[in-house]
Parts: sequence; structure tokens; C-alpha cells
Amino acid sequence: MKAAVIGGGISGLATAYQIKEMSKAAGLDVHVTVFEKENRTGGTISTVEENGYLLETGPNGFLDSKKSTLELITHLGAGAALEKSNRSSARRYIYNGKKLMMLPDKPQKFLTSPIMTLSGKLRVMLEPFIAAKKSDDDESVASFVLRRIGRQALDNLVGPMVSGIYAGDPERLSLKSAFPRMYGLEREYGSLIKAMMKLRRGGAPPGTLTSFKSGMGSLIDALTGALGESVKTDAGINLVEKSGRGWKINHGSTYEEFDAVVTAVPAYVLGRILPEAAEECAEIYYPPLTVVHLGYKNSVIAGKTDGFGFLTTKASGTKVLGAIFSTNIFINRAPEGYSLVTVMTGGANFPENAMMEHDKLLSTVCEGIEKITGIKGAPDFWKIFPHEKAIPNYQVGHPDTVKKLENKMEKMGGIFPAGNAFYGVGINDATMKSMETAARVAAYLKGVK
Ligand SMILES: Cc1cc2nc3c(=O)[nH]c(=O)nc-3n(C[C@H](O)[C@H](O)[C@H](O)COP(=O)(O)OP(=O)(O)OC[C@H]3O[C@@H](n4cnc5c(N)ncnc54)[C@H](O)[C@@H]3O)c2cc1C
Repeated sequence: MKAAVIGGGISGLATAYQIKEMSKAAGLDVHVTVFEKENRTGGTISTVEENGYLLETGPNGFLDSKKSTLELITHLGAGAALEKSNRSSARRYIYNGKKLMMLPDKPQKFLTSPIMTLSGKLRVMLEPFIAAKKSDDDESVASFVLRRIGRQALDNLVGPMVSGIYAGDPERLSLKSAFPRMYGLEREYGSLIKAMMKLRRGGAPPGTLTSFKSGMGSLIDALTGALGESVKTDAGINLVEKSGRGWKINHGSTYEEFDAVVTAVPAYVLGRILPEAAEECAEIYYPPLTVVHLGYKNSVIAGKTDGFGFLTTKASGTKVLGAIFSTNIFINRAPEGYSLVTVMTGGANFPENAMMEHDKLLSTVCEGIEKITGIKGAPDFWKIFPHEKAIPNYQVGHPDTVKKLENKMEKMGGIFPAGNAFYGVGINDATMKSMETAARVAAYLKGVK
């Protein structure tokens, strides 16, 4: 039997790997092929080495609080190359247009934090007395936060957090899909604060950021290596069509037949190659985001880059969405005597910032960094990685969109959606979903055998 996985990002690679493992365990003889459009696998994940710097084009790591990625890495035999973020990089900051303010890492510190005024804090503390929403309808992240903890919490805390994860706009993002945990806590406990107290989670961090000594590209190398000849690069798929009980896939001038197909491409691609999915895929918005790496002499930035990094509020007036102090977090990210600052610009609120011509972008970002951190002058090294369509933003109603698409695909039979367009944007979401999708594919193939 033959299974095709379209898209060689982390979602596609992990799913293909799990299909191989699960079908072997079930005694099924399944030949899996991954079709990747580019000349390399990894999609958004890629590590570039240049001038002694180790640069991530996309993600800097994953949290170790969910086990799926760690288990996959252990299975691949790549665990020894892992690297946990430095503990001293735990401090995180918010920039509000005037100054950098440390995010409270414990509930007690919230009371004395400058992050909100007294009235903003009192509004947050009213949260346990606010009745839970009765209807189960989806709502925006902004609507949820305003209902439960008020305007200042939205502007000063949740807004920047939404920028950090989705480069998104809380007014448009779906609560149920983008923050399912927050949605679930209100349903289960009636209040976020009551839930925190019951779960004794307080302000504890949700895990440790984890990467590899040689960067996140190591995860892709390990998976691609394990899949061997199953991976075809420079193999962009143009069309996926039903053919008898199976599927016909067109790449270049060839057609190939498969018993089952997993689609792990961005929504704007899926809508094109599988026209039946076009309507649902059009609902998913991808804002542009650009990553700008800046390398400075240690003497230039001494005392100016404390902790993990910072995020900015929408009203701060800066064109910098946030920055991480990469050399505080992981070793080997810069040559001896230098430090690396990784800046993000653009996103759903300021898409035009990501699309600036590179000279202008660089000077704008450096100006922003100088204003926020006090780092003066041009960096010794820079590298720009634009993502024209960066991270899928799940709009209000996303759960219904996904359900509709799943129903359609289920009726067609033998075709399974995967990828960050539908099931979470984190690397952990991709590795977790890969097991579920692979199990469904193996069960389907067993049925058609
Ligand atoms: C700047 C940035 C920072 C991020 N930081 C983090 C982070 O720190 N931690 C975290 O957990 N997540 C982070 N993310 C999110 C995470 O990286 C992504 O959600 C995840 O890597 C997406 O994986 P994917 O396989 O679903 O999609 P993709 O990586 O988009 O893979 C899709 C693949 O499909 C291929 N493709 C496209 N068209 C075709 C076609 N016609 N035929 C065949 N193949 C095709 C593409 O070339 C690509 O390889 C970040 C994202 C960005 C952009």
C-alpha cells in the first residue's frame, strides 16, 4: 500500500515518520512518500550558520512541558544534542512606549509590578466574581480577556503575548482555537484565578524553552535522515484528485496513485491543490512577519540585554514587535566576544512593517532597538529572514471551519488534513497531532487492505 504526505515541514515529516512506525507495528506493508516543494525539508524551521552566528529563520525552540516532541527526539536517537534554555534567561519584559517592565513571574509580584495601574490590577482581581459565559459560542481572544480581566490586561499583557505567539490581533483571533486552555479553564473552573489556585500553577512557567546545540535544524535533519528515501524534495504538488478508491497526485509532468494522502501544507496551498477545500482554507489568514538578526560586540550591549527578551504593546509606537536575546538563552549562537539579538517585526497589527525594503527595515529596527534597550549604533552583523505568510491566525469561528473541512475530507475518504493551518501553531502541536493523524491513516489502510 502507498501513502503520500504532501509538505515536508515538521507536521508532514513527523506524520510520515509515525505512519511508518505505526504501520510496521500493525504488520502493514505501507510505502510512504513525502513530497516537498522546496529543495530542503523543514518548512518554517531552518537554522543557518553565517560568520560564526547560528541563526534561526523561524522557531527558536519548543517547550518541554508537553512530551510529544521530546519523545519523538528520543525515538530518533537525537536526545544528546538537545539544549535547554539558560535559567538566567527567565526574565521577560514588556515595552509600553516609555520603558521596559519586567513581567511578574509569581502572582505576589503582580501586585507591585508597574505593568498595570492600581485600577487595572483591581479589575484583574475581580475576575473570580465574574460569572462564566453561558453560551458555548466562539469569541475573540480580546472579547474573552475584556470580559474576564479587563482592558489593561488586554493591552499590557495578553496583546503582547498574542504578538509573541501568533504575530496576531486579539480582536480577530479565535479563543477556542488559539487559546484552548484559557477557554477550557473558564468552562471547567468558572474563573481563571480559581483555576490557577486549584491547579497550584500560580505564575509558574509553562515549561522550559528547548532547542539543540546546533539549532532547531537538527530536529529536521534527524527526521529527514530517519525517513531516508521516503522524502522527495523539489517535488511541489499541483493537484490532488480522487481516483477510484485512492488518490491521484500530480507533480511536474507525472501522476502517481496512492491509497491514502495526508495534506501538511499551508492553508493557502491546500485550497489551491485540493479545490474542494478552497472555501474553508480561505478563512485562514497568514500575516507577514520578518525576523531580523543583529550581532553586536559584547562591549556595545553590556548591561542592556537582560533576560530572555521583550514584547511590545500595540500602543507603544515602536515598529519592533519583540526581540529575544538569543545569546542569553542558548550557547553557541554568536562568535566569541559577540552577542545576538533576534528581532521580530510586522504581524497582523502592523503588516506593512514586515514588508519594508531591507535597508529601511534594518535602520527602522535598529532605531527601535536603540530606543527600547539603549543599544547604540549599527550592529556588526545582520541577517534578515522575511516570512510573507508567517503563522496562521485562527479567526473567530475556526473550530467550525475545521469541522466543515474534516467532514468534507472524511466523506471523500483516504485523505487527512494535518499542519499548523488547523491544529495549533506550536512544534508540540505538530508532533502531537502527527501521532493522531498517523493512527487514523494506519486504521484506514488496514480497512482497505
Ligand atoms: C518566525 C517564526 C517563529 C516561530 N517560533 C516558534 C517557536 O519558537 N516555537 C514553536 O513551537 N513554534 C514557533 N513557530 C511556529 C512553527 O514554526 C510552525 O507552526 C511550524 O513549524 C509549522 O510546521 P508545518 O509543518 O505545519 O508547516 P510549514 O513549516 O509551513 O511546512 C509546510 C511545508 O509544505 C511545503 N509546501 C508548500 N507548498 C507545497 C506543495 N505544493 N507541494 C509540496 N510541498 C509544499 C512547504 O515548502 C513547507 O516545507 C514560529 C513560526 C515563525 C514563522
